[in-house]
Amino acid sequence: MAVAVIPPLPAFPLAQRMSRMKASAVREILKVAERPDVLSFAGGLPAPELFPVEAIAQAHAEVFADEGRAAMQYSTTEGYGPLREWISSHLGKSGLRVATEQVLITNGSQQGIDLVAKVMLDPGDLVLVENPSYLAALQVFSGYEASFAVVGSDNDGMKVDELERMVAERKPKLIYLVPNFQNPKGTTLSLERRHALVRFAQRHRILILEDNPYGELRFRGEHLPSLASLDDEGVVLNLGTFSKTLAPGLRIGWAVGPREIIRALTVAKQSADLHTATVAQRATARLLSRFDYNAHLDGLRVVYGERCLAMLGSLERHMPAGTRWTQPDGGMFLWVELPRGMSADTLFPLALEKRVAFVPGSPFFASEPRGEFMRLNYSNRPPELIEEGMRRLGAVIAAQQ
Ligand code: PMP
Repeated sequence: MAVAVIPPLPAFPLAQRMSRMKASAVREILKVAERPDVLSFAGGLPAPELFPVEAIAQAHAEVFADEGRAAMQYSTTEGYGPLREWISSHLGKSGLRVATEQVLITNGSQQGIDLVAKVMLDPGDLVLVENPSYLAALQVFSGYEASFAVVGSDNDGMKVDELERMVAERKPKLIYLVPNFQNPKGTTLSLERRHALVRFAQRHRILILEDNPYGELRFRGEHLPSLASLDDEGVVLNLGTFSKTLAPGLRIGWAVGPREIIRALTVAKQSADLHTATVAQRATARLLSRFDYNAHLDGLRVVYGERCLAMLGSLERHMPAGTRWTQPDGGMFLWVELPRGMSADTLFPLALEKRVAFVPGSPFFASEPRGEFMRLNYSNRPPELIEEGMRRLGAVIAAQQ
């Protein structure tokens, strides 16, 4: 019997904006790096053994048993009332006072970034970002055809004193930053710079997008107030998430901020997904009503603090002279600067051969990418594997010198 040959379908012409939306280099790297024989410090993964899986499962079972039909029904775009109330009260305890109506539940904080870009940015608008910055936020802004103004950072975070000069050239529409334990650097914006940044944004009426997924994972030093809590003129939109504290699989985050922006985000979210999954929202609200969230956070801080310390010690022992790294006070990442002239992109395949992986730093730069950096994640491996991984990595770097 003759076999029919099906001709290939002609390619569909994609929207022009797709030419600006490159597949994340990091995603491609992660595919290779997550090979089971590789000790990977590449992914931004929390420690799965610390997910409160049983408590989350129990809360879901109760939702199905007690309120199954309501949980299966369509719901409001703003989110489940009791969950919004819990978030508003929880944020209040750290000094960020917002009414329940100012809380919008999102599908992770990643959706918050996307919605803010959708409601704020026209093609060609300028977004001011740290250089380097969270890669998936850069991708969002590129997707909405924004341009970037970049500002450098040091161990105290974004160099806020450079903003005045930059704004004189051209005013940005949005300032995006991760003030606590930044992704990728692990550094934190100092208190002085927080005040200065809020004053700057108020003076020029520029919206700050404060992305704060790691703020509750501080294992060293004093808690610093959020930018939103320092603002009394409605220039800060603050994003949070349960991804790093409960589990990313829940896909529950939130946006809080000025009422008119929250209203606009709600309209934009309607057209994106109608609402965040009702079952997950109800189960999370139920869980939080009786779960000792603060004790759980304390447990995460202890483990992540130990792992960070283990990585700092292992780097000290195994990295050749000329290698430098940041000293995070919380979060999940640190940032390594290789000895002069060395490229993390060149090093990556050599490291894979020795069964260790990291993320090369260049994709995190919105402009003027620099090749001599790598991001390391310490939350996902116990100290003994961190030691072995850094031993392998140190040997690969030393062999290049
Ligand atoms: N912002 C930053 C800085 C992140 O590192 C991440 C996760 N990698 C996110 C936002 C998105 O997190 P989620 O959507 O899971 O809340």
